[in-house]
Amino acid sequence: MRYNQTVAGVRRYDVVLIGGGVIGSSAAMALGERGLRAAVVDIDLSGRLSSSEKNAGGVRATWWQPVNITLCRASIKYYESVREEVGFRQKGYLWLYDAETWPKAQAHLGLQRELGHPIEQLDGAAVQRRVPEIDRLDGIAGATFSPEDGLINPNLLKEHYRSRSRTLGVEYLDRVYVHAIDVAGSEVRIGCWRADDPISDDTLMRMMTEDGPGEAAAGHLFELSAAAVAITGGAWSPSALRLVGLKNLSEPIRRQICLVDNRTVSLAAYGMIVDSSGVYFHNDGAFILAGYSPPAEPPGYHFNYDGERFFVEEIWPRLYARMSVFERLKHVRGWAGLYEVSPDRSAIVGRAAARVYEAHSFSGRGVMQSYGAGQALAELITAGRYERFDASALARERFERGELALEELHI
Ligand SMILES: Cc1cc2nc3c(=O)[nH]c(=O)nc-3n(C[C@H](O)[C@H](O)[C@H](O)COP(=O)(O)OP(=O)(O)OC[C@H]3O[C@@H](n4cnc5c(N)ncnc54)[C@H](O)[C@@H]3O)c2cc1C
Repeated sequence: MRYNQTVAGVRRYDVVLIGGGVIGSSAAMALGERGLRAAVVDIDLSGRLSSSEKNAGGVRATWWQPVNITLCRASIKYYESVREEVGFRQKGYLWLYDAETWPKAQAHLGLQRELGHPIEQLDGAAVQRRVPEIDRLDGIAGATFSPEDGLINPNLLKEHYRSRSRTLGVEYLDRVYVHAIDVAGSEVRIGCWRADDPISDDTLMRMMTEDGPGEAAAGHLFELSAAAVAITGGAWSPSALRLVGLKNLSEPIRRQICLVDNRTVSLAAYGMIVDSSGVYFHNDGAFILAGYSPPAEPPGYHFNYDGERFFVEEIWPRLYARMSVFERLKHVRGWAGLYEVSPDRSAIVGRAAARVYEAHSFSGRGVMQSYGAGQALAELITAGRYERFDASALARERFERGELALEELHI
């Protein structure tokens, strides 16, 4: 790559975080709380393509792995404390299981309860008492309701982390792309490119689906220096890992969501509903937000939304099969974003190499786990070990050791 080069003075920080989505912003807040001088760099702080802007806002702790349950529980407790500010609606998760998945779900209820997460088992009649609009129980072998789970406004959450971290001295550098990282000396040197002008949607798409700014974009180069760098780049973390010679283990996978107008029925009283067919949905203002993840989606930086076809083929038949009130749904609009999926579908968090830390590959769990993960990363960076927030089971070494943190029932 060749840039219009202007070398500015090198600014020094305790930690530079690459990526200011919900994870980078949470970790930055946690570092600020511990008195560290941190900077977050992002090519687009508004997050037009970031997963933190494209998700369904679901928050739950009904996982299989203790580390995922505890980090989500810690996050839920925090979201409760800032409920109004982050739009946390604790209306529960109702999850309907088929004959294949129900025994697997049941096998983990004990662990979830042991770790303090309340969860009820429901039969068909109890499901209908809870959500009378569910008038077809075909294929449901059992269900759970977890009342402390719910929905959050991911954008408000990210802004909450950012505004709190700014008051603690964290700096956010916008329109900045990290293209080089040198960890050879006693300090990490971070090579950055800053766009001179606002970045158009087309240019951003090209940068985030190819690799970096390329030759055409006008900008200037500068360097940052830090005692440590943290890779919090979401689905783009592989390119940052490459810059420090670390093995990438995850892949980006497109996930689509749509908004539908159901005209007559409001689901505002309920939180997230996950159907045994894989469709998940919840009320979203005047509409219903519904998502479905086709199992054969190929990996890649794909953002195309399949539009009406996605609604007609994947969403509507599943919703209507469960609730006859959904007969006359109307597709409004939708979008596609990226999951960053690790081999065991748990995040990768920890110290990746000397002076290099990482928190990425949240595999569809980044919003609900962001507070706990950010705190864990900050503890590790400042104290050299986990104290209140233990994410040791999420270290990358688990793949070499064969100690996977496997999550299976996943949307
Ligand atoms: C359709 C969909 C539904 C989802 N539903 C849920 C849900 O219900 N609940 C839930 O908890 N999670 C959900 N997720 C997952 C969740 O959105 C992600 O796990 C989470 O947002 C990841 O946050 P992040 O900060 O790691 O990444 P991102 O939000 O993607 O942020 C990464 C940032 O890093 C920047 N960046 C990367 N590399 C560089 C670089 N080299 N230089 C400069 N900047 C860089 C990018 O510009 C970006 O802003 C969903 C995701 C999708 C796509």
